[in-house]
Amino acid sequence: MKNLVNANRLAGVNAQLVAVVIAASGKLPFPVCVVEGVRSKARQAQLYAQGRTAPGRVVTWTLKSKHIDGLAVDLAPYIDGKIDWNDLKKFDAIAQAMFAAAAERGAKIRWGADWDADGKSRERGESDSPHFELVGL
Ligand SMILES: [Zn+2]
Repeated sequence: MKNLVNANRLAGVNAQLVAVVIAASGKLPFPVCVVEGVRSKARQAQLYAQGRTAPGRVVTWTLKSKHIDGLAVDLAPYIDGKIDWNDLKKFDAIAQAMFAAAAERGAKIRWGADWDADGKSRERGESDSPHFELVGL
């Protein structure tokens, strides 16, 4: 797991999703950082307030995120010791590796940059490039 940074943040995440993340990180030529795994209801409420009743930009649309149930992870490329949130090509590479690893394991996942799974990423509203969640659970 040398390619996975902050792997401890996978604690409590669904075992199938953890296996997909580990396999995906092994396919990539750069390290992947686990930004967030399980999220408490309180933290989700805090995130939901952001851009609404609290300062900042809107970062979530729901109070019932799959993160609360351990069915989602946020991943980002980790280059030279930091995350480059604007390197969308690397987020795309992570997505490709995640879908490949999921297919190998018979897991169905959804990507935050292609919610409707039509193969066209970052359409209107599809702005959550780090987010992957298990579908059908
Ligand atoms: Zn997420």
